[in-house]
Amino acid sequence: MSKKEKARGRKRRQALLHELGEKCVWCGTTEKLEFDCIIPQGDKHHRKDAASRMTFYYAQHRLKNIQILCSEDNRIKSIIDARFLEELRKAQAAAAQRQQDRDDVPF
Ligand SMILES: [Zn+2]
Repeated sequence: MSKKEKARGRKRRQALLHELGEKCVWCGTTEKLEFDCIIPQGDKHHRKDAASRMTFYYAQHRLKNIQILCSEDNRIKSIIDARFLEELRKAQAAAAQRQQDRDDVPF
């Protein structure tokens, strides 16, 4: 990534932090802030480069799905998120099974 892109990414990050209040919504600290998807979207975006990550966060922000957490609280939230995604997958599998069962009815 070029210097210019890096600078632009930093600027967008600062702008979004500013818009969201520049503090952890759980504990109020202004240190080590991170963006968090309120309804978890998996962790694929964590492996993207910084610019793509910011594009992802802005898209989520338009859906009102971004909040600021400090790194410590974000670690706790990610444990909750993992549990949430596990339950979501189970619920979706159960729903798909119900659909299947309905489709199996011969009339
Ligand atoms: Zn916090």
